[in-house]
Amino acid sequence: MFCKQINLEPNTPYRIKCKVKTLGVESTDDTLGGAQICITDTIEKSMTITGDTKEWQELEFMFNSKDRTSVEIAFRLGGYNTTCSGIAWFTDFTMEKGELETSNNWKYACIAFPNLDVELEINGVKQDFKFEMTDSDISDMKKNMQRFQNSISELTNGKITATYDFFTVNETIRTLSYDDENGYYVSPDNIEKILYPYVANKGYDYIFICVRMGDANQNLEIPVNDWIGLGGMDYLGIGFSNIRLPNSDKSYIYKYNDRINTFPEEVFVHEFIHTLERNAQEYGNDIIELHDYSKYGYNESQKEGLKQWYYDYMNKKVEGNLGLPEEVFTIKPVKQDNFKNGNYLDEFREPQNFIEEVQMILDQIQLLFKEVEGEEKLT
Ligand SMILES: [Zn+2]
Repeated sequence: MFCKQINLEPNTPYRIKCKVKTLGVESTDDTLGGAQICITDTIEKSMTITGDTKEWQELEFMFNSKDRTSVEIAFRLGGYNTTCSGIAWFTDFTMEKGELETSNNWKYACIAFPNLDVELEINGVKQDFKFEMTDSDISDMKKNMQRFQNSISELTNGKITATYDFFTVNETIRTLSYDDENGYYVSPDNIEKILYPYVANKGYDYIFICVRMGDANQNLEIPVNDWIGLGGMDYLGIGFSNIRLPNSDKSYIYKYNDRINTFPEEVFVHEFIHTLERNAQEYGNDIIELHDYSKYGYNESQKEGLKQWYYDYMNKKVEGNLGLPEEVFTIKPVKQDNFKNGNYLDEFREPQNFIEEVQMILDQIQLLFKEVEGEEKLT
């Protein structure tokens, strides 16, 4: 990894671009390692390039500075917690500063992945898990997304308006991620490559993916620690969550029913709020946590789940004035549109002629001497 410290203006979109060529780049385990642009010590990164690229490929990385005034931008072969082997070349670096877009209209993508086929090592034994979704599974997800569109607007008192695309991606999910807290789940890395063509440059502000990870008929379940939705993740800077189907089609969790469940879209609402919660924190707000409902006297109701809590949490009505700050409803991922009037910055400007080249070398020698002097003082 090679990197450069960059000064930033807070809450501002930035775009870094470069060209990359790779030779024999592959991950050394099940994770996604490769050539990428990233911010050091964070999981914020561009898309990952692997394999052999015959030609130079353009790579871009967009991010919001949030409450930071400087970051270290890095160009690397590998990944956060990930390794790979191979060679990568980087060239033609540029950096642009964009403009914020502050509308309250959110564009959601809800994507069903009907096919999952993974081999996992459970307690030292390799085991195959293969699941498919039924048409009725997909139709439930579709109906809930429709309900979510209205609910999110109602529950925020109109502070969000929503549009969405619902679609199916038939490519099979072949790897899963694991952590002790949640068990197995689909991380953005697991599907980065198959999802990319469907979401790149479509302007989505949030992504739900729907998966099945168990089947009562097969009496088979991937070890999952009691979650039905899992959120707070990022797919290339876009909020991302897993919506997991129940193992049995007799479950009412995602089905509307007058007597049993009048808020079947709850998991969608809950996971999306996790991204709002995280954004509020990352923009420097001190806020109460989404999971602390019982601390503030809220209970899950049989039919409506935690609907009242979500309303109060998003409208700052918990104990009179606690909850999400209103700005959070306009904090959306950075996208191409932010750079229509983008300004190019000099941060990664390479020397354009012989004189600039010599000057750069002289600057570097001077820098080197300063470092050596510094070292001597230290010893
Ligand atoms: Zn949660």
